[in-house]
Amino acid sequence: MCGIIGYVGNRPALPILVEGLRRLEYRGYDSAGVALIDQENLCVTKSAGRLSALEQVLDHSMPQTTGIGHTRWATHGPPTDVNAHPHTDTSGKIAVIHNGIIENDRALRTYLQRQGVTFKSETDTEVLAQLIAMFYEGDLEKAVRKALREVSGTYGIGVLCADEPNVIVAARKGSPLIIGVGKGEHLLASDAAAILAHTTQVIYVGDGEIAHITPDELRLTTLDAIPVAKDVQQIEWSLEQIELAGYDHFMLKEIFEQPEVLENCLRGRLDQNENAIRLGGLVDCTKKLTGAKRIILTGCGTAWHAALVGEYLFEELVRIPTEVEYASEFRYRNPVIDEGTALIAVSQSGETADTHAALIEAKQRGALTLGAVNVVGSTIARETDAGVYLHVGPEIGVASTKAFTGQVAVLAMIACFLGRRKHLSPCAAAEFIAALAAIPKQIKRILDTAEEARKVAQIYTDRENWLYLGRGYNYPVALEGALKLKEISYIHAEGLPAAEMKHGPIALIQEGMPVVVIATAGRQYDKIINNMMQVRSRGGSIIAIATEGDREIAKQADHVLYVPDTIEPLQPLLTVIPLQLIAYHAAVIRGCNVDKPRNLAKSVTVE
Ligand code: GLU
Repeated sequence: MCGIIGYVGNRPALPILVEGLRRLEYRGYDSAGVALIDQENLCVTKSAGRLSALEQVLDHSMPQTTGIGHTRWATHGPPTDVNAHPHTDTSGKIAVIHNGIIENDRALRTYLQRQGVTFKSETDTEVLAQLIAMFYEGDLEKAVRKALREVSGTYGIGVLCADEPNVIVAARKGSPLIIGVGKGEHLLASDAAAILAHTTQVIYVGDGEIAHITPDELRLTTLDAIPVAKDVQQIEWSLEQIELAGYDHFMLKEIFEQPEVLENCLRGRLDQNENAIRLGGLVDCTKKLTGAKRIILTGCGTAWHAALVGEYLFEELVRIPTEVEYASEFRYRNPVIDEGTALIAVSQSGETADTHAALIEAKQRGALTLGAVNVVGSTIARETDAGVYLHVGPEIGVASTKAFTGQVAVLAMIACFLGRRKHLSPCAAAEFIAALAAIPKQIKRILDTAEEARKVAQIYTDRENWLYLGRGYNYPVALEGALKLKEISYIHAEGLPAAEMKHGPIALIQEGMPVVVIATAGRQYDKIINNMMQVRSRGGSIIAIATEGDREIAKQADHVLYVPDTIEPLQPLLTVIPLQLIAYHAAVIRGCNVDKPRNLAKSVTVE
């Protein structure tokens, strides 16, 4: 998920690696490291924290001309010096840098431990290093090939071996990797930004391919050792364009990343053969959690909206009374908590001050505490009894998008995990898991029609007051849609449970006021159509979010944005996408600073 750089040539590698890592900093990371190699010596330096911390411990005079470097965004084990990459095998001969997630790392770790291997770190990556070392018989490429056959999951890797001083072996599956071609040198990178200062000639490594790289030679083969021929391509993009992967803003990039990062979030956790959800982070507390008398979900802002979806999910699937609390209110309210209470703290950064304080409060009063957090090793992740990481990668845009869908997906998995241990039948779980597995591709389909959302935004961006209505699972989405619009376009917007409108807010509706109504197929469809008619008869302009195939709705709405059909509990994962896009385009059209909206910070570490 984060950054890879490698160099093999005739210049000292270290300055090239450090500069490359600096170019990758924009992606977000929590630790960094390098490995350099000369005649039979492998030298690894790594450090938790910023690149500047690594630079302080590096010996900058190191002359080696082959090396690899990495910025880590932790998924397995907190961001410590030991867990930073490169990882070496026990003998210190093999060094590996890795982006991605090895799904079967537990099984491989156990297997290797039985063979007598002792692990230094908690990472899935070290498993790869040890596995490659186990297969090494004088040919690094062969050993990597053998190791990768045993591995499931995603990877972009760079590997060094002390016995082969002028060689980098690289491979990818699901994580990007390119090779820069220079004169008497090659560079390896996860992202063109890292190598652009040295060359614009690149070769893109394909999924399932292995590269054997020396200063003068580059050989690409498939995992089955079949040679692959590739043309060198010229990079036309500027550095800034590369950082944004061609998107105009990080927020848009992150909206479009959702199919891919949700695959990562679900990876290895949905077992469709056993109709089960596998959540390693909950194993130790499963008994206590299923025995809870009450569940409290807490968070702030977007995370609070995700928690609200969680409340509906938990009550429906788990049948344990569940409440959602604003962390800031909860902590000062003298809440009733006892040992029968389980609290789940929802936070992208894992550093949100109010959510952290709520967690401490609950802990002191004896509750079991859990986290649904994106940043591995963050304060909330460390201080909860157990938890489930989002694995959606670093979020840079201030307005949260992929973290929301990641939080909802994680809460859906926890609900199904617990539901199966309570009353949820294997059949109902099978339907739920199949629907969840289909979500990433369904989001992709919505994104393919993103232009429709832009057109809607274009028509209404001059209106200063918007209303968002939803019922059931889509009520929190109405709140989230309104929040997105407020945050980045500074348009005033309110989200409401649709039926509440008649108890007051309906007084606001006047000719031409945009009202976004989430009216997807479900138990309350007829009711929300009635709400739409109430708006329409008062002159409001209706933007409906509807299920594909619903032609009737067009008669009641001024615009319809369609989403694919899914089961009701998972609709928020789809219906939120057009609302993210509307907010984004409204902000762009109004000339706002999308990624850094006024008065807002990415991680709110103050009360
Ligand atoms: N899963 C690996 C780890 O936790 C790699 C993370 C990354 O992509 O940076 O160390």
